[in-house]
Amino acid sequence: MRKIIVIALLGVLGWPLGVIQAADIELPEIGDSAGALISPQQEYQIGQAFFWRLQQSIDLIDDPELNSYLQTIGYRLVANSDAPSLPFTFFMVPDTSVNAFAAPGGFIGINSGLLLTSQTEDEMASVLAHEIAHITQRHLLRSFEKSKQMNLPMTVAMIAAALLGAADPQIGSAAVMAVQAGGVQAQLNFTRHNEREADNLGMLTLVRSGFDAQAMPTFFERLQQSSRFYTGQAVPEFLRTHPVTTSRIADARGRAVRYPLKRQLGDTLQFYLMREKLRVMMTTDLKQLKKFYENSLETGSNLNDAATHYGYSLALLESGNFTQARKVLQPLIDQDGDRLSYQLALADIEIAVGRLSAALNIYQENQKLYPDDQALTLNQVSALLQANLPEKAAKLLLKQLDLGVPSRQLYKLLAQAKGDMGEKSQAHSWLAEYYYISGRLNQAADQLRLAADFAKGDEYQLAKISSRLRDIELTLAQMEES
Ligand SMILES: [Zn+2]
Repeated sequence: MRKIIVIALLGVLGWPLGVIQAADIELPEIGDSAGALISPQQEYQIGQAFFWRLQQSIDLIDDPELNSYLQTIGYRLVANSDAPSLPFTFFMVPDTSVNAFAAPGGFIGINSGLLLTSQTEDEMASVLAHEIAHITQRHLLRSFEKSKQMNLPMTVAMIAAALLGAADPQIGSAAVMAVQAGGVQAQLNFTRHNEREADNLGMLTLVRSGFDAQAMPTFFERLQQSSRFYTGQAVPEFLRTHPVTTSRIADARGRAVRYPLKRQLGDTLQFYLMREKLRVMMTTDLKQLKKFYENSLETGSNLNDAATHYGYSLALLESGNFTQARKVLQPLIDQDGDRLSYQLALADIEIAVGRLSAALNIYQENQKLYPDDQALTLNQVSALLQANLPEKAAKLLLKQLDLGVPSRQLYKLLAQAKGDMGEKSQAHSWLAEYYYISGRLNQAADQLRLAADFAKGDEYQLAKISSRLRDIELTLAQMEES
């Protein structure tokens, strides 16, 4: 019955669904199913198109360790949300403004500025929990369901305008034009009611996940206070799309009192380590940052001593001072040698000084402890490819792919490994997947055509390639229609 309804609605909404064969997958209805015109499959399609569009104008942070960390916190929250079976994708945007945003289909972006501004893991988690609630409650989509003339490109444009309009002028102006052309009013800022609902549900999720409920009002308060020093354009983005009022903070503060902290066994050190890794990655003044670490270590004025040493070591490595980087890192390894982040940092130092085999040994040893870890595998694979061992690299990557967490880097390295092995058709096929996940569908199609050229005679491989190419061409056609 539902399949028929979904297909009937497609005409109204203006884009065919058959392409993604989504009608064959039964996903649960979410939010207020009574008024829902957009199916979960279409919702995902909208979010994915938005995610593609975002990647076309911004290079997202690709660091596998940071991404793993973000997914870990994200999924811990999702598991305790009111829609634990929905798909979610968490990603990090290299932008200093304090912002996070949630697009339909579970695509949640967090700016580097937000992680760097968070003083505790609980604060960062509180924002993620709030964004997860916007998605499970379908806040953004509900405003679209009233206008029946929407097609995919316009819906995506409006979402881009709502979530990023102010943050990215390039996306913003194109989106505003598309919206004006459609004669649709963009009134997409979340309402106060939406915000309160996201706070309430977000706080429940936060508490169920073993985080501190007080972190939510504390973080909002800090944002609000810092916003007093801003005027006009410079107001933190998060406040613009999620207005924080004094009464909202008081409200959250009052509710948080009801949830005494029952901390689960979390690993909060990883938060501090990843925050320093990000700080070193994002800095524009390495010299100044090293001074900052030196000063913190001298005066003891740091939130976390181990993280400060770790950050200092990474900054030293980054500036080419390998001996000193090792010296600062060593005591951390002596105390907590099983911590993967320290091991990966040590391997980076070994590679920097040209001891590739020492690095390979470190990765190999850590595979015993962390056999499924993507950050470990991707680092190891890069080193294996440098050492001209593509077969071993490909084996590790395919195993990682079987775990069901694909990533841009994984596809790119797989293409490289297959290329090094002389398997040209495979190399182009995997490169196509890299372009596809990055939102570059035309390049993905080009790579598949190349893959087909190199697969002559292999009927099975050719059939696979042409079916994938057909899917991508149909998706491209949908994206362009307006
Ligand atoms: Zn909000």
